[in-house]
Amino acid sequence: MTEIWPYTVSLAVTMGMVHLVLFLILLFRRKKEVDQQLTLLYLGMSILWGIATTLADLRTVFIPAVTDTSNSFIPVFATALAVLELLLACSFLEFPILAILATAGGTWTVVLLIGTIYFALVPPPLLPLLQVAQGGWAVITTVLIVLAVLALFRSHLALYRNRVLYWLMTAVALTAGQAATMLPAGPLRVTGLLFHVAGVIALVRGTASYWLPNVKATLRSTLRFLLLSAVTAALLLGITLGAEWLTDLLPLPHLALVSALAVVAALIYLPLYRLLHHLVDRLLAGVGFDPAQALRDYSQLISTVLDLEQLAHIAVQTVANVLDVRRGALLVTSETERGGLELQPVPGLGEVEQEPVEMEPISPILARIREQDTPLFQYEVEHHPTLRAAAHTERAWLRSLEMEVYLPIYSQDKLAGLLALGPQGTGEPYSERMLEFLSTLAHQTGVALQNASLFEGLRALNAHITELNENLRAAYERLERLDKAKTDFLSIASHELRTPVTQLRGYTDILTELAATEGLSQDQILRIAGNIVTPLRRLENIITAILDASRIDAEGLSLRFVPATLASTMRMAIENWTSALEERHINMVTHHLDDIAPIQADTQRLFQAFSNILSNAIKFTPDGGSITIAAHPLDDEHFEVTITDTGIGISRADQELIFEKFYRVGSVSLHSSGDYKFKGAGPGLGLPIARGVIEGHGGCIWVESEGYDEVRCPGSTFHIVLPYKAHHGTCRWQRPAASQRGQGESAEAEL
Ligand code: ADP
Repeated sequence: MTEIWPYTVSLAVTMGMVHLVLFLILLFRRKKEVDQQLTLLYLGMSILWGIATTLADLRTVFIPAVTDTSNSFIPVFATALAVLELLLACSFLEFPILAILATAGGTWTVVLLIGTIYFALVPPPLLPLLQVAQGGWAVITTVLIVLAVLALFRSHLALYRNRVLYWLMTAVALTAGQAATMLPAGPLRVTGLLFHVAGVIALVRGTASYWLPNVKATLRSTLRFLLLSAVTAALLLGITLGAEWLTDLLPLPHLALVSALAVVAALIYLPLYRLLHHLVDRLLAGVGFDPAQALRDYSQLISTVLDLEQLAHIAVQTVANVLDVRRGALLVTSETERGGLELQPVPGLGEVEQEPVEMEPISPILARIREQDTPLFQYEVEHHPTLRAAAHTERAWLRSLEMEVYLPIYSQDKLAGLLALGPQGTGEPYSERMLEFLSTLAHQTGVALQNASLFEGLRALNAHITELNENLRAAYERLERLDKAKTDFLSIASHELRTPVTQLRGYTDILTELAATEGLSQDQILRIAGNIVTPLRRLENIITAILDASRIDAEGLSLRFVPATLASTMRMAIENWTSALEERHINMVTHHLDDIAPIQADTQRLFQAFSNILSNAIKFTPDGGSITIAAHPLDDEHFEVTITDTGIGISRADQELIFEKFYRVGSVSLHSSGDYKFKGAGPGLGLPIARGVIEGHGGCIWVESEGYDEVRCPGSTFHIVLPYKAHHGTCRWQRPAASQRGQGESAEAEL
């Protein structure tokens, strides 16, 4: 029997050298991440384990005590290796349970070590320690594989999945090596060790650099190589066997036959090789695209595009036509005032988040985009040690886009945007060739993107200017109306004040005349005094209104809130106008006033506000019309009162202005005087005072009307929102937007 120990020793020495070299390479690296430190430990432990395995194999050289003891230590070392491998998997694949596993695995290894040392000193072992150790090793290995498989489903990022695949291949090689050393010595054990060395090399390579080789592509090219080699071998074999077979059949010299077959083989070999190459490529990779043609078509398509959305669509669709990509967008960049960058997504394909994000000036992601004109991968954003330090919002925003790669688009040496593309349907990372194609496409997009952005900017500017114009026009109109109101005030004042004064003067003249010519009877005095009261009251009302209005402006009304009910206050206001309603044949109805819970309010002022609104409703509703007063709760704090008439309505332009002091719709001269006559004029202070009172209670008031139309009489509705408990300060109730109100109303109408 030949001695095998020289082979064992040379194998061990070679492996030891490989380990040592790897150990030194890692040791002298400047920056050491956790996984690199763990790899160093693994290498150290692996050397110990290799020594134990070699000693155990050298039965013919050492005494049995040495080989047996070494053998009993193998499971402990294998366990330690498996634990380290598990920790490496967690660090490498970013599972956050590193600390827990480190503690559990470390404890288990120490227990095993103590047990092994103890039983080595005090034989025979009481426990089946070997089996227990091997069982523990199997459990750890299973957890390791399960974790890796879980990680494979965890991410949609092709590069991360490639990382997991890389790790899985490495782990399988390492685990196979560990398992082999627990088998009896023999060829399997040797093969296992070779596997282990391959695994260790892959491990060091994996931790040394952040970028890993494309596992699937490497496997594919290996497979392609093997397949093509097999076909070539089959061809050569065919020539050899064919030559032998034909020699028996044909009366030709062997050399001539072989030469003829070689020529035939040479002729068919190249076309056959190409065909097979093509077939294998299609079978394995499923790709075959012509980048040049796609790029030519693309530059033609985008040459006239001025719309960002259209550009995004064409760009992503061009990619989708040649690669299996189902989502993509353009991220248009613009510098912020603070020196950061705003990214605004413009969807091209698939549902893409449309909110912009602002990257901080110090953002590492921004630095990476600005400094390197190379594709940025989402994988980098998630897992690169530097980019992981970026703000959470930036990373979360990029994650929400669900893209795989971002290709910078430059225009005149300035970053104009990024072409963002989702993962490939095949689940594989983009190959070098694809990335080259995509980068060229992104570069071609630069000018078109700049044009479209400029055009978009112009469009936005245009819209902004139109809006400003519109606002200016509205402001001008408002000022014009207010200005008219001021001018009108003079005529109103002269009209409103002069009328009662003239009446008073008339009566005093009559009095004087009568007193001078004939004595006044008691009856006459009473009649004239009765007539004087009306203009006097009117004058008094106007002066009170002017004083109230000026008080609202100066320091606000001084209100005293006392317990009250809406129904009683409103009824007081209604009673004020009973005879007017009768005279004008206007029907007034109330709904649900009693449903409103007791309130805290200044009843006198609230009465005044309601009374002013009712007076208007009567004045601007033709005879025979109707007024409806309704109330309903809004929320826990507020309720609403609506006063709706069937009057002439108020144009939209006037709906805000009528709450301004002295503002009256239409020409002053068209108004007739009087408290309740149809279209009777007042001094234009009723609604400003009503608003002052309602707002003084912490409420709000507005009017809605289809418009002004004396023929159709569309009517008006005054909305008054009040808190149950009146308070100083602004209204806390949020008035719904116009569209929502519209919907609510139509829903009510349907009911
Ligand atoms: P006035 O004291 O003149 O009634 P207001 O401030 O109460 O002044 O009202 C201002 C203007 O608002 C009125 O002149 C009138 O043109 C318009 N207005 C108020 N209420 C109504 C209503 N219910 N229907 C139509 N127009 C109204």
